[in-house]
Amino acid sequence: RMHHPSAFRLMSIAGGLKNSPIFRSLGLIGGKWIGAHDGNTLKVNNPSTGEIIANVPFMGGRETNDAISSAYDAFNSWSKITAAERSKYLRNWYDLIMSHKEELGQLITLEQGKPLKEALGEVSYGASFIEFFAEEAKRVYGDIIPATLADRRLFVLKQPVGVVGAITPWNFPLAMITRKVGPALACGCTVVVKPSELTPLTALAAAELALQAGIPPGVLNVVMGNAPDIGDALLASPQVRKITFTGSTAVGKKLMTGAAGTVKRLSLELGGNAPCIVFDDADLDVAVKGALAAKFRNSGQTCVCANRVIVQEGIYEKFAEAFSKAVQNLQVGDGFTEGVVQGPLINEAAVQKVESFIQDAVSKGAKVILGGKRHSLGMTFYEPTVVTDVRSEMLLAREEVFGPVAPLLRFKTEEEAIRIANDTNAGLAAYIFTNNVRRTWRVSEALDYGLVGVNEGIISTEVAPFGGVKQSGLGREGSKYGIDEYLELKYICLGDMTRK
Ligand code: NAD
Repeated sequence: RMHHPSAFRLMSIAGGLKNSPIFRSLGLIGGKWIGAHDGNTLKVNNPSTGEIIANVPFMGGRETNDAISSAYDAFNSWSKITAAERSKYLRNWYDLIMSHKEELGQLITLEQGKPLKEALGEVSYGASFIEFFAEEAKRVYGDIIPATLADRRLFVLKQPVGVVGAITPWNFPLAMITRKVGPALACGCTVVVKPSELTPLTALAAAELALQAGIPPGVLNVVMGNAPDIGDALLASPQVRKITFTGSTAVGKKLMTGAAGTVKRLSLELGGNAPCIVFDDADLDVAVKGALAAKFRNSGQTCVCANRVIVQEGIYEKFAEAFSKAVQNLQVGDGFTEGVVQGPLINEAAVQKVESFIQDAVSKGAKVILGGKRHSLGMTFYEPTVVTDVRSEMLLAREEVFGPVAPLLRFKTEEEAIRIANDTNAGLAAYIFTNNVRRTWRVSEALDYGLVGVNEGIISTEVAPFGGVKQSGLGREGSKYGIDEYLELKYICLGDMTRK
């Protein structure tokens, strides 16, 4: 069972994580490592090699209900200890994650494929949410409101919403979990996490470190397996007061419908279709570097990735040439190989999707000027690709390609650029490259997006609000705003206050 190189690597990672459950086919319910009730398991593979690296439990509604009960019981005490105490637990967890950065980074590369350097970056980024919210926990201030009647005193109290169901995707196996669990735990909520079945090991390792940090049983639970069953159990339970989801828009819509039954709160971080607008007056180097980072990080598998590079006609040819040169230099391979900056796609279906998008674009007149086919490494690897003469009606511009393909569109005027950029149901991230400060402001204001990067391709940080408008989602994660998603406001009115 353990004779594959990837499995050996997993064993050494697990060794570093002390008694780690990551290859024991267990989930975490009420502080105990538990398998599926019927013993069913699900294989996890290394997308770079196709090797099976571990089995995880294939759980469903039954285990989810157990996890919800544990979280519900734990809420009683977790929500009542002081914010300072919760902060200490989170701080411990943060320290443990950072002292196991190497193991967690390797685990991310192993099950998700991204280059180790990027994976290590994700560990720091993921951990930053725990550190930030450990501090923010201490600043959940309420309000005193000037009353309209002299004998009254009005207060607003902020209280944790209760048990939270957190459903996360595979593209950031750690950060998408900590970005939710950090603020939830900080303000006194307890959580049932359902990580993606494609990348569950990082979630289990993070949960193990949470236990080691002393976070009490039931405060953080992890179930995985049959996603629709688990989702339905979370939605059906009146004890779950909130669902926070990061993933595809299609699943987000299902959850939104399902949440109606118990009128649950929802936060949704869904798909994007980020425009990256390069104006004639931009610095070519800055635009190339920014677009490259925004597009090709994580093999183009990020919700904020530049899905459409929209270039003004005066700089179009020059940009296409310089950009292609830079893209050509991206070294593709196994994420553990030194120097590799582009790993595999998550699975072969993802490669097929990219192929079909390219086919559609070419059939409608687009030109592949670099790449455009599977990489000679085969399987899940796709060549870094640049396509020119892309127009808004092509699939490449309409939907998330979620792969290493940069479609270049062309525009004449600023108005046209804004129109093209906003011509989508998505509204998560946008990027603009220009040296005109007035244009920076004008265009930023006109873009229907939740985040805008100006002369910069990677802008996510724990201190700023992250989230989309339109069909990219509801709510914000990170920053002081991120904790509001896990808090209810309670208005308290004290009457008869002037009588002695
Ligand atoms: P996905 O929607 O297929 O899966 C996300 C999660 O939902 C997984 O854990 C999956 O098992 C679960 N799921 C699937 N069906 C479900 C159901 N019926 N009920 C409950 N849960 C269910 O998305 P993915 O392929 O894992 O991730 C890629 C998508 O996520 C992209 O569209 C990307 O843009 C988006 N994403 C968004 C953000 C953001 O912050 N906006 C961040 C990362 C990824």
